[in-house]
Amino acid sequence: MAWDFATEPEFEEKLVWMRQFVREEIFPIETLDLSHDHMTKLIKPLQDEVRARGLWAAHLPAELGGMGFGQVKLGLMHEILGQSPYGPVVFGNNAPDSGNAELLAAGMEMVEGREDIRERWLQPLLDGTMRSGFSMTEPNTAGSDPRLLQSRAVRDGDEWVINGRKWYTTNGSVADILIVMAVTNPDVHPYQGSSMFVVPVTTPGVNIIRDVGSMDDPHVTYGRFGNHAEIVYDDVRVPADHLIGPEGSGFLLAQTRLGPGRIHHCMRWLGQSQRAFDMMCERALSRYTHGSLLAEKQTVLNWIADSKAEMHAARLMTLHAAWKMDQVGASASRDEIAMIKYYGATVLHDVIDRAIQTYGSLGYSADMPLEAMYRWARAARIYDGPDEVHRQTVARHALKNYTASEVPTDFIPTRTVAAREKFASILEFLEAETV
Ligand SMILES: Cc1cc2nc3c(=O)[nH]c(=O)nc-3n(C[C@H](O)[C@H](O)[C@H](O)COP(=O)(O)OP(=O)(O)OC[C@H]3O[C@@H](n4cnc5c(N)ncnc54)[C@H](O)[C@@H]3O)c2cc1C
Repeated sequence: MAWDFATEPEFEEKLVWMRQFVREEIFPIETLDLSHDHMTKLIKPLQDEVRARGLWAAHLPAELGGMGFGQVKLGLMHEILGQSPYGPVVFGNNAPDSGNAELLAAGMEMVEGREDIRERWLQPLLDGTMRSGFSMTEPNTAGSDPRLLQSRAVRDGDEWVINGRKWYTTNGSVADILIVMAVTNPDVHPYQGSSMFVVPVTTPGVNIIRDVGSMDDPHVTYGRFGNHAEIVYDDVRVPADHLIGPEGSGFLLAQTRLGPGRIHHCMRWLGQSQRAFDMMCERALSRYTHGSLLAEKQTVLNWIADSKAEMHAARLMTLHAAWKMDQVGASASRDEIAMIKYYGATVLHDVIDRAIQTYGSLGYSADMPLEAMYRWARAARIYDGPDEVHRQTVARHALKNYTASEVPTDFIPTRTVAAREKFASILEFLEAETV
């Protein structure tokens, strides 16, 4: 099948507008240190403009209030928005709300008669009037292997009772609802034994212990957008209809959420990489040392050349994964999605690292955005599944195409014997001719 990432000219016009809008209206916001409330007010007119252009919350299918773009177009859009941490917020598709909306939409479709999900949680998330967190990772079990989850939800009459400790619930301390993954049946295979629940933060027993200080923000101030909360769920009771999808569908829903999310992450990382690359090139042409500009030093030229090639490779790989997902769905594109996760995260890290090096002490300082970009970039190798897990998936699938062989298939001595047998008559003839 031929690959085709082309998009129609009308969509290219939208991308042109987005590029200019992000550069002129969103980049300047980054330098302002505003409270969440002030920031919300500042970006409101920008969000209104995005809505007026029909680009708000574009990630969902048209029937759910999105644009029905598909992954290639969404990917191209995220590449532009991802240049700034505020891009996705202004366009109504920031994590974790966008992924949670996709998860709620999928849950709604899995069970008949659950239209109520749209009105109660999905639409408010899309409208931006409700905020959410995704509470899956636990401090005491390996997040890389959610089969080990310890949080439990037990049915009690018309309610579910949830107990567990979670952390790294991004936006947990500013959320209205939390989507919690917990084991509902420990007696079956973990893939069928976990479920997702909507838990309003005001429910008794939801104890938000703290926002975890991290490389994002080591001296974290509680309750800021983008923080990562540690939460204890202590006999939290939610009505039975707060279960999303059928009981036991937690893993399925998690995959629904993570597949497109990884493509969008990778394209946002490319937006970040391109920004770091632009900064690196500008500095290389401006800084003079040891008799020439940095742009004339072989090492710096290599950094520029390697960064450009790696970003190009990551972009093609990501667009291909997006295109394949549009053609055959997330499950059949698992390897492609896994490959861009670890390849893209490494490219992001390496390009920013080289840009910092090109700037020297200025790159390390907070006078340039690079140090913050570097800290965010470091997380990319961990969240959405650590890179090592994705590498393992890809390598294991690759190995399925091979069988063990005591003598290597390409062992030259055995191949020579086989070739001599195969061409025996002609070799005999040629040898006789030579004599
Ligand atoms: C910035 C950020 C935001 C996050 N947001 C959320 C969120 O909103 N909601 C949420 O639920 N979680 C969130 N997380 C948590 C994230 O999903 C987990 O950190 C991740 O799944 C890894 O789990 P862990 O930290 O428990 O690491 P562990 O599972 O303890 O793994 C530690 C390390 O072991 C290695 N490892 C693991 N498995 C293998 C393997 N098979 N082969 C080789 N090496 C391996 C890897 O190097 C890995 O980094 C976030 C994390 C970060 C950093």
